[in-house]
Amino acid sequence: MAGLHIKRGDTVTVVSGKERGKRGKVLLVFPARGRVIVEKVNMIKKHQRPTQKLRQGGIIEREGSLHLSTVMVICPKCDRPARTGVQLLAEGKKVRVCKRCSEIVDKA
Ligand SMILES: [Zn+2]
Repeated sequence: MAGLHIKRGDTVTVVSGKERGKRGKVLLVFPARGRVIVEKVNMIKKHQRPTQKLRQGGIIEREGSLHLSTVMVICPKCDRPARTGVQLLAEGKKVRVCKRCSEIVDKA
């Protein structure tokens, strides 16, 4: 399997489904499940039962996971969803680059 194209901290946009067009920062990646949690995207209401820690039960809102195939990294230069490729730097480090403009998508 090729490496994941999405990493924690990426700014991504949703490209399909009801959340299409929304942007946010990747908070969590679940590689085994092929899913990601994106900040403020796909908010779901969840019934929270009272617990020892949280005495007050009720409805809480939190991010629901999205399938990896429905999100794409936003290229900081194009400011558009970008297909990414991998480029090997001189130091032997691999970085993801935008296939459109070759801008490095990874943050240092
Ligand atoms: Zn680009």
